[in-house]
Amino acid sequence: MRERLVEDAYTCASCGFCRFGCPVYREVGFESASARGRMYLLKRVLEGKLGYTERVVDSFYMCAQCQNCKQLCPTGIDFGEDVAILKEMFIREGKLPSYLFPLRDNVIEKGNPFGRDVEERGEWLPGKYRTPKSSEYLYFAGCSASYASTRIAKSIVKILDQIEFDFTVLGKEESCCGSPLERMGETVGAKLMEKNVQKFRELGVKTVIVSCAGCLKTLTHSYPKDFKVLHVTQLFDQLMREGRLGFEKELDKKVVYFDGCDIGRHCGIYEEPRNILRSIPGVKLIDYEYSREEALCCGGPLASSHPELAHKIASSRAKEAKELGAEIIATACPTCMVNLKEGAKLAQIEMEIQDIPMLLPKFLKRG
Ligand code: SF4
Ligand code: SF4
Repeated sequence: MRERLVEDAYTCASCGFCRFGCPVYREVGFESASARGRMYLLKRVLEGKLGYTERVVDSFYMCAQCQNCKQLCPTGIDFGEDVAILKEMFIREGKLPSYLFPLRDNVIEKGNPFGRDVEERGEWLPGKYRTPKSSEYLYFAGCSASYASTRIAKSIVKILDQIEFDFTVLGKEESCCGSPLERMGETVGAKLMEKNVQKFRELGVKTVIVSCAGCLKTLTHSYPKDFKVLHVTQLFDQLMREGRLGFEKELDKKVVYFDGCDIGRHCGIYEEPRNILRSIPGVKLIDYEYSREEALCCGGPLASSHPELAHKIASSRAKEAKELGAEIIATACPTCMVNLKEGAKLAQIEMEIQDIPMLLPKFLKRG
């Protein structure tokens, strides 16, 4: 792993192309906030001219690992991956920044980042889904939709129930997927993963459906490969093509789809969310100036560690949507939705920001 860091640090051509799409650099404006600046820091550390001081460690934790710079780097450096390696090393050396202690402790002790009681996790579920049953499909709600943005989870269950799709939900038996721990470089997320995987196996699950892009990334890349993982927009798109799901009421609005980094660059899903939005009669779907692989991050991955910065970054995305004349920003991740709402508030912009599943129930074609 050290070899990879050394190779990347000395491969970096210091061209600065990575600065263009870096959400942190665009907001902060300091060289040390860009991949190039951090590469320079890394080189100094590798040459023994600098130690991993609190400030140096913090500058790596300030990277959203959004992978925008990977798209632009002519030498092919995946800086987000370098940061992941560094974070694991910081954990081994006991250098996790103290502002992340509460988040880490909550996930380890309570199985969710909010420190909420496990009994509350399934409270959003309608009665008939409260007890998990054997099924090929399982909806894994994740922490955000289970505790905070429950309308997302309720909408998904309502839609699937209405079309008589057979599925199950773990409810209070579900644990955090481990994504917040992975993001900080902690490996103990493996215990949470094992707990979830055991439940999937007990219930005979073949496909896990997720609505959070962070869960999607973790379940896709870090869980055993004996389950298919689908983002709910992929499932809905598939059901639309099979004629089992459709929309009939009109939504006469200009909607911009926000490509979150975890669902987009990290998992390669760009078209399914757009297909769903386009299928709602009346929707005028538009794109950000930089979209799909080039999309600019909303700062969501920094919401727990650097909330002010995250909201500032999100306010730029809200302003850009406003300038495009969008009336709704549609997301496919609760973290993006919540952070963009904070950003719009900060920018004093009145804008409807909704996760795609939340938008859908009132437009559903009946029977
Ligand atoms: S991964 Fe994203 S936040 Fe980190 S340096 Fe690259 S562009 Fe900036
Ligand atoms: S784009 Fe790549 S090579 Fe150029 S400065 Fe950034 S990390 Fe270095």
